[in-house]
Amino acid sequence: MEIKVTKTTNPKVKPDGDDLNFGSVFTDHMLLIDYMEGEGWKDARIIPYQDICLDPASSVFHYGVEIFEGMKAYYAPDGRLLLFRPEANAHRLNSSAARLLIPELPVEMFLEGLLALVNLDRDWVPKRQDQSLYIRPFLFATEPQLGVSRSRSYTFCIILSPVGAYYPEGLDPVKIYVETDYARSVQGGTGHIKCGGNYAGSLAAQYKAKQFGYSQVLWLDGAERKYIDEVGTMNVMFVIGDEVLTPELSGTILPGITRDSVLHLLRDWGVRTTERRISLDELLTAAKNGRLREAFGVGTAAVISPIGEFYIRGERYRVGNGHIGLLSQKIYNNLTDIQWGRIQDKFGWTMEVK
Ligand SMILES: *Cc1c(COP(=O)(O)O)cnc(C)c1O
Repeated sequence: MEIKVTKTTNPKVKPDGDDLNFGSVFTDHMLLIDYMEGEGWKDARIIPYQDICLDPASSVFHYGVEIFEGMKAYYAPDGRLLLFRPEANAHRLNSSAARLLIPELPVEMFLEGLLALVNLDRDWVPKRQDQSLYIRPFLFATEPQLGVSRSRSYTFCIILSPVGAYYPEGLDPVKIYVETDYARSVQGGTGHIKCGGNYAGSLAAQYKAKQFGYSQVLWLDGAERKYIDEVGTMNVMFVIGDEVLTPELSGTILPGITRDSVLHLLRDWGVRTTERRISLDELLTAAKNGRLREAFGVGTAAVISPIGEFYIRGERYRVGNGHIGLLSQKIYNNLTDIQWGRIQDKFGWTMEVK
């Protein structure tokens, strides 16, 4: 694939890595690839970061035809710049695309464009401990046509944002609000894909939780509100007895790449892991009788987010002793060591940008 590169003549001042708010500063360049029915994907280009100009009738504005990905680039101590399982993001983008009748973006195109852009803006990747470059690929429908039907034109875009350490003060457990009114997804819906619409629908619950002093929402299944789906923007895992439990990929939760990586690590260590339906009752009973030893969210942004409390219908259930659990900490250390290239990557998960 040929990528036309137009470099900025006006580079921005790079921020000091220590006071970076997540996703608020962007690098000098962006990647764009267009799609037109009958012509396929074309016109791959890297241009200075700038506004996107679209016809107001574009279907992304009216019917939310948009999907996205989230991943990171990391500087290793030996100076290599690394991506973590980028081909998994490319494949997941295509499974999201299939659900919304968006044409598939060839995996090689995704990777080539990604590598070229990150390489060009590599000076933007922060080098201090636990800092990284957040990568946001997204794809939206651009056909100017108000009829509710499959769009015939699309744009794929990647933007980059340097991010500070997610836990500058260590991994303190967060408090979770169990949502029993709003629903995030149901069987047959779009809960298993990364589309903007899922997030639009989740904002009200997130806002409510924040007002009660909770940082994230635990979503229950949309049909019966009996089973556990995921937390906010992360998959969720529980250490009950000496087993690690996580909801199965039933079609209502996002198949997280961090989830998959953590399951691989645990199995490699010989820890018993089970993917199955987990009811809220089972979780709360385990919390009450002391068998729920650890609970944590898993996702690209935070890697591991320990959970210290669940709040449901006026009752609080504590997990652990206010500190991150041993297994949670071990997973966090191991996965971040692989991502930042500090230990040998025996799974072949990292890809060097060069
Ligand atoms: C992105 C996302 C996750 C985590 O996926 P990772 O690939 O691990 O970053 C989990 N749940 C939802 C709803 C998501 O959008």
